[in-house]
Amino acid sequence: MTFGRRTGDDSVRAIRYTDAAMAVDQELLEILACPICKEAVETVTLSEGRRTEIRDKYREKFRGEEPVVQEGLRCRKCARIYPVVSDIPVMLVDEAFEEA
Ligand SMILES: [Zn+2]
Repeated sequence: MTFGRRTGDDSVRAIRYTDAAMAVDQELLEILACPICKEAVETVTLSEGRRTEIRDKYREKFRGEEPVVQEGLRCRKCARIYPVVSDIPVMLVDEAFEEA
């Protein structure tokens, strides 16, 4: 996956972009915690139905930009799942759900 001219700089940028789009940054993941239990969270892949539901919910807040939804963050203790919308983890109790 490359954009534009095949210079060294372009390839580096393309690789970084791909990484960012595929997963929550590992360092960020380590400092995130469930707001209820204060426990660590782990990434989970969301079902297609859940992704659609979250996209529909957040589309309005994103002012026309299509929200990217692929995964969520599940609390290791209570198993609540917090959505990750366009690489932004939404660690809010009101936005959490029980099943991926
Ligand atoms: Zn929890």
